[in-house]
Amino acid sequence: MKASIVIPVYNEQENLPELIRRSIIACDDMYIPYEIILVDDGSRDDSALMISEAAETFGGKVVGVLLNRNYGQHAAVMAGFAQAQGELIITLDADLQNPPEEIPNVVKKMLEGYDVVGTVRQNRQDSFFRTLPSRMVNKMVQKTTGVLMHDYGCMLRGYTREIVKTMLQCRERSTFIPVLANTFAHRVTEIPVGHSERADGDSKYSFWKLINLQFDLLTSITTFPLRVLSVIGGMISAFGIGLGTLILVLRLLHGPAWAAEGVFTLFAILFVFVGAQFIGLGLLGEYIGRIYHDVRDRPRYFVRTVVGRENHSSPKEQYV
Ligand code: UDP
Ligand code: MG
Repeated sequence: MKASIVIPVYNEQENLPELIRRSIIACDDMYIPYEIILVDDGSRDDSALMISEAAETFGGKVVGVLLNRNYGQHAAVMAGFAQAQGELIITLDADLQNPPEEIPNVVKKMLEGYDVVGTVRQNRQDSFFRTLPSRMVNKMVQKTTGVLMHDYGCMLRGYTREIVKTMLQCRERSTFIPVLANTFAHRVTEIPVGHSERADGDSKYSFWKLINLQFDLLTSITTFPLRVLSVIGGMISAFGIGLGTLILVLRLLHGPAWAAEGVFTLFAILFVFVGAQFIGLGLLGEYIGRIYHDVRDRPRYFVRTVVGRENHSSPKEQYV
């Protein structure tokens, strides 16, 4: 049993020495083989150099994956996944907000047989404007995926090799790893972990990058917004038809002088057509949603084991 720790790094030169030191101490405590995979996400500072040096100094324990430019945190983690050799794969942030000392706890929980081990940040040390979007996201994901996890933003997480391999098979470009993992996970659990302030440097998420991330998340879990168009269209059309009928009835009751020379009739007809347009858009949306599902090419399922069949080289490698 080997553990791979995947850490995305973007301009974290102030935190790297401390991160590497503490991670190695924590992992040495586990008494199982491990590798720490540091993925440099195109940093502009000395991070890449420091990672290369660490990989040389701690040969075997530290592996550096250097990307040529900045692709974003989740893409960087995916790049690390592709290199991971362990059966248990742990992700972690480089800014020491999640203490590396918690790695053994996650591993211990994984050894109990869970597919995904999430963590809940105790006394989260972030500003209000950083926690508000996270709270909204957590609520939304819980509603749409039905998987009850409380803290999707916390990247200190453990995944089994099968889950990671399945995630690597997904062909989509914008991913939100904790949510993607949960769409394939069967047994999930959470443990509480400590949370501290960012050790050094600033958050790498600007306001716009955060908004971008929310859209990644939304589109990675659902195509429901496309369907909303049809619903709105249906409602507008129904309103238009209702209004038209009402005007007709009133016209018959009160005579031609009442109906303001047909202005409201025009409105009623307009509503019907606007609604029809929305329904048309929604229909297009349905097809686009289906295309999107197919283009992502997510594995439909993965087979955990096949029993009762001989000469099966490696049942765990079966994916469709
Ligand atoms: N990160 C990355 N690429 C990016 C942005 C961030 O690899 O484009 C890494 C960053 O180095 C850190 C982790 O992702 O290890 C989380 O970033 P940060 O701490 O800035 O996010 P926050 O804690 O504010 O969510
Ligand atoms: Mg952080």
